[in-house]
Amino acid sequence: MQKILDDINELMAANTDRGKVADYIPQLACVDSNQFGITVVLADGQVFSAGSSAQLFSIQSISKVFTLTMALGKIGDALWSNVGREPSGDAFNSIVQLEHEHGKPRNPFINAGAIAVVDAIMMGHQPKETLAEIVQFVRYIANDSSISIDDKVARSEVETGHRNASLAHFMASFGRIKHLVDCVLGTYYHHCSIAMNCEQLAQAGMFLALDGMHQNSTNRVVSAQRARRINSLMLMCGHYDGSGEFAYRVGLPGKSGVGGGILAIAPGKASIAVWSPGLDSVGNSKLGTEALEILVQQTGWSIFGH
Ligand code: GLU
Repeated sequence: MQKILDDINELMAANTDRGKVADYIPQLACVDSNQFGITVVLADGQVFSAGSSAQLFSIQSISKVFTLTMALGKIGDALWSNVGREPSGDAFNSIVQLEHEHGKPRNPFINAGAIAVVDAIMMGHQPKETLAEIVQFVRYIANDSSISIDDKVARSEVETGHRNASLAHFMASFGRIKHLVDCVLGTYYHHCSIAMNCEQLAQAGMFLALDGMHQNSTNRVVSAQRARRINSLMLMCGHYDGSGEFAYRVGLPGKSGVGGGILAIAPGKASIAVWSPGLDSVGNSKLGTEALEILVQQTGWSIFGH
C-alpha cells in the first residue's frame, strides 16, 4: 500500500494540469494548487499516507456527510419529508430545481439540501450550540480532539454567501426552514469551514467502512443499515452533477468539497481521504479523482467488481 501511494504521489507531483482552485469563496482562492495529499486507513486500522497528508484544508461539503449522519440520528426518516434522495444533475448551488420541486432539495449533499439538514439538526438550539455538537461529533468519529473550524474561511463564506442565502430563503418561503434563516446559514457556513487533514478525514470516514462501527472502540456510530444507506447516497449524489462520472471512473461512495478534498469509502476495506485544491469544471478535485482512479485500479476496490 505504501508503494502504491508513493507512486501516486509522484505521478501527481508531475501532473501540470491541476484544475482551478475555488475562487467564489475568497479565502479558498489563496490556497496553492501545487499540493497533494492522500491517506488510506485499512479496516484493520493500519494507516498509510503520502504527500501533504498532514496539511489542513477546508473540508467544505465533505462536512455534509457528518451533518447528514447526525440529522438521521436525531430525527431518522422524518428527514426525508424535507430532503430528497435523488442525484440532482444540476450544479451544487442551483436554484432552478428547487422552484420546480416546491422547495424540497433533491438530496442532502447539494447546498440547499445541506442547509435543510442543518435546520433539522438545530432543534431549537443556537448556532453556537449546534456547531459545538457538530465539531464534537467529528472529533469523536475521527478520534482527534484537535479538529476545529477555520473562522477566516467561515467569515469569507458569510460575506459572499448571497446564493446560499437565496436558496435558504426560498426554502423558508415553502415553510421548509423552521429556524431563523440567518442562524441556519451561519451554522452551515461554519460547518463547511471545518479544517482537517487527510489523516483526520480518513479516520473520520472509518465508521462508514466498518458497517457503522467506531474504529477503535466497541461503540457503534450508526447501525449497519444506516452506514450502507449513507454510502449509497454518497455514491449517487456525493460529487454534485459529476456523481455519475465519479462512479464510472472510481466506483466508490465518495463526497467531495470545493476545498479540494474527497472522502471515499471502500466498504469493509478502507477509508480514503485525498486532497488537491485544483477543481474540475463541476467543482470536484481534479487530481483527487485521478488519484482515486489509480488507487482503485491497483487495489481492485471498486464496489462494482475488480
Ligand atoms: N460552503 C460551500 C458553499 O456553500 C460548500 C460548497 C461545496 O463544497 O460544495 O458554497
